[in-house]
Formats: sequence, C-alpha cells, structure tokens
Amino acid sequence: MGLITTESMRAPGPQSTTTRPVERILGVVEGRRPGKTVIAFGGLHGNEPAGLEAVRSVLAQLQRPGTDLAGKLVGVAGNLQAIAADQRFLARDLNRGWTAESCRRIVTPHADECPEDREQRELLELIRPLEAESRDPLVILDLHSTSGPAAPFSIIPDVARNRQLALSLPIPTLLGLEEILEGAMFGYLCSRGHMGVGVEGGQHSDPETAARLEAVVWLSMVATGNLPADRVPDLPGQRERLRRAASTLPPAVRIVHRHEIDDDDDFQMEPGFDNFTPVRRGQLLARDRHGPVRAALDGLVMLPRYQGQGNDGFFLGTKVTRRWLMLSATARRSRMERLLALWPGLHWDASDPNTLRYGGTEPPSAMLRTLRLLGYHGVRAKPPGLEFFRRPP
Ligand SMILES: [Zn+2]
Repeated sequence: MGLITTESMRAPGPQSTTTRPVERILGVVEGRRPGKTVIAFGGLHGNEPAGLEAVRSVLAQLQRPGTDLAGKLVGVAGNLQAIAADQRFLARDLNRGWTAESCRRIVTPHADECPEDREQRELLELIRPLEAESRDPLVILDLHSTSGPAAPFSIIPDVARNRQLALSLPIPTLLGLEEILEGAMFGYLCSRGHMGVGVEGGQHSDPETAARLEAVVWLSMVATGNLPADRVPDLPGQRERLRRAASTLPPAVRIVHRHEIDDDDDFQMEPGFDNFTPVRRGQLLARDRHGPVRAALDGLVMLPRYQGQGNDGFFLGTKVTRRWLMLSATARRSRMERLLALWPGLHWDASDPNTLRYGGTEPPSAMLRTLRLLGYHGVRAKPPGLEFFRRPP
C-alpha cells in the first residue's frame, strides 16, 4: 500500500498528547484499491482526547502490511489550541459556526478573529482539496466524549446515506438533534453532500471510551467498503464492545422536544437523569426561576445539562422502531414529500426545496409525525408561523 504518514508513525497513547503538540494531520493511510475517503476527526473539543487516541490507534494498525485497504483514511485533530490547553474551547465552540456564510467569511484572515476562527479556517483548507479530489461523498467520522459517564450513541443528520452507516453500528442513533444544533461541522459537511456519523463514545477519561471510538472507526471502514471485514483486528470483539455498552438501549431515538434556556433562567437539572432515562409526562425534570420544569411528554431524556455551557436544558426523545425506519425510508425513496404542500397551511419555501412554511404556530400532530417521517426534524419560528427544514437528501 502507498503510505504517507506523519504523526501516525508514533506510538499511540495518551503520552503523545502531553509530550509534544498535536499536529493537525494525525496521519494518512492510502490503499491501492480505489475507495472512499474517510476523514476521522478527534478533538474538535479540546478536552476530549479519546477520539484522538482512537484515530491514532487505527492509523498505526493500518500501517501493517496486508490490510487490503481501499480508498484512504485521514486522521485529523480538531481544535489544536484547545487540545494544548486541555479545554473544550478557548473563545468559542469549534463545533458551531459552520454555516455556508461564516465559512466563506472565515477563509480570509482578519485582525479581530478568535483562535477558533483560525482553527476552522485550517480545517476548511484541509477538507476542500479532499472534497475536490474525491468522486464519492467524503465519509466524516466526528468522534467525541462527554464529561459524565455515558453509553455510546451516534448523532446524524437524518438523510439516507447517513442512516445506513449509523444503523450498521450497534449503538443507538439519535435522529432530529443534528438539525436543531445549527452550525455543527458535520451538519455543514452533510449539507455539502458528504456522509458519516458523529459519535459520543463515553466519559472523557475512561480508557473504554477510546476503545469504543476505535471500534466505531473500524466498523465504519467496513460498512463503507474501505476494509474487508476479515482484515479488521478482532472485528467480532469490536462489535461486541459497542453492543455491550448499549445493550439495553433502543436502536434509534428521535428528538421531539427541546427545552431551551436563557442565561438568566437559573436552570438547575434535578439529579439522577442520564441519556436515555425514561420519563413520564408531567415528571419533574428541572427547576428554573419560573418554577418547576416538567416533562411535556412520555419519552427519554437526552443531553441533560448538569454543567456550564450552552442554552439547551435537555431534550426529550421517543424510541424509533425498525418499522418506522423502514416506513420513512420507503416514503423518502418514493418522494412522498411532494404531497406535503397539499396539507392545508403548509407550503414550500420558494428558494429552498428542503424548507416548508406553516402558517400557524400549533401544527396538528399528524403533520408533525409526517414531517419527521420525511426528515423534516428541524423547526424554527418564522413569524407569523413556523418553518420546518431538513438536510438536503
Ligand atoms: Zn465533543
């Protein structure tokens, strides 16, 4: 195999992050056969070393002869300055601000830019040529970890090419969250036609987290056809590692409610909630200056906010059945969304085929269910009504 290597020649392990600065390109391994370009990102948040470790480990093992790799794997470190400081970010979250407009602006350096503007520009400069030289969509693996102990799960913009990859991993897939979190890097790249998964592997400091994220990279390389299954070191073991960590969880969860908070809300989550904790409608979830915050529906808590940053208090999701997944795949293949504009009050945005406007503020639940089935998980106020949107399929 043709190899171009940089950092991946080093022994993998946490010591390499502390003894010398992390380089942007963790390594590139290129196979002899044509195939997809997989870009594995670690450390988009600087205090999440497990993703970096996972990527380094896979790159090092792919150096060995006889791996029969197709296409290439590029390992990329996210927020270098925040990684050096062991902080989530310095001035702003590098996993926000990835809109077409800000990416256009950021490519030109300017005097009052923040450290993350530079990081984002360097990432864009790295992605653009890979994008230009690849005939297929790029495959993006965006690897993360969390401050508290957590089961692994993936987050995808709900389009067919991502679903296939996400559902091949034996961990739950979260649908409808990525559409809400505007400006995430992977969502931006997905809008440009690329595919992949974002993965939360578990707690930052738990060695198991890096092992799980490594399993995600191996299994994804098989799912995309970049590696034959029998060339992955202990593939059944990798699969089992993920399955074990998520054995009690549903295959997919769709976000149906977001509790947004203001900085002065004094929001306090009640203790004891975790990702996927089932709750009943009316159950006390949190308190803020207005009083108790209760669950709006029966469902599962996702991303409860116990510390610090961001304006999402928590999300509520519902379990997605295999049948729903099949139904929605069929509905999308047969382009059922063409019928949506027949719904009273609903009409297409003139300039964007992936956006629909609704004249009122309380859409019937049947309409919401149908919109979600067709991938329109995103919703925002557009006075006097609402706007529903999805990622380009
Ligand atoms: Zn993260």
